[in-house]
Amino acid sequence: MAEKNKITVPDELKSTVAVTDIQEVFDGNLIEKAYNWGRRNSVWPMFFGLACCAIEMISTAASRFDLSRFGMEVMRPSPRQSDLLIISGTVTKKMLPAIVRLYNQMPEPKYVIAMGACASGGGPFKEGYNVIAGIDKYLPVDVYVPGCPPTPQALLFGLMKLQEKIDNQKISETSWYDKENAGDPIPIPVLGPDIMDPKDFDKIRKQAKG
Ligand code: SF4
Repeated sequence: MAEKNKITVPDELKSTVAVTDIQEVFDGNLIEKAYNWGRRNSVWPMFFGLACCAIEMISTAASRFDLSRFGMEVMRPSPRQSDLLIISGTVTKKMLPAIVRLYNQMPEPKYVIAMGACASGGGPFKEGYNVIAGIDKYLPVDVYVPGCPPTPQALLFGLMKLQEKIDNQKISETSWYDKENAGDPIPIPVLGPDIMDPKDFDKIRKQAKG
């Protein structure tokens, strides 16, 4: 009898139609799957470029490579409206405090992609006096995209890897729904003698006067 009433979904609709019952909704984590499906197909990257890699990121968003196929075409110019920070280029010591500040301003759940050799480990400028040897020393990185610069196809592959990560996230295990363990903002780093904290300007002026 059960076999007789079984609903068969045609192959071409299987990716968009789910036939289920109320038991499976709760036992099979269907709510979580639907939630993750919505998140993975509507990631909003921040419109934020750092160096040469940013040109490839912009190309990825243009018509030839077409980020909208992944639901990611809505690049936002504000961290408050973004859930993905693509570190697309060389991270200098001077820029790092601004990047961490932007990351802290993004709402959870949020993700970081290190795009290219510079963002992942310093690239050709590694050990340079003014360059950070990888953004992962300061921010949690979800996906690394190798290359100098990575091609738009490589960045798209990285974005698909991020989608896989989102697919496997469980609401019950993520820190952003856990009030107790939501985590504090990342401290703003102040690096090198040439970087000054604006709060210290008065002190610095006094010292400069001798
Ligand atoms: S990885 Fe290469 S292309 Fe990308 S920012 Fe560094 S030097 Fe430029």
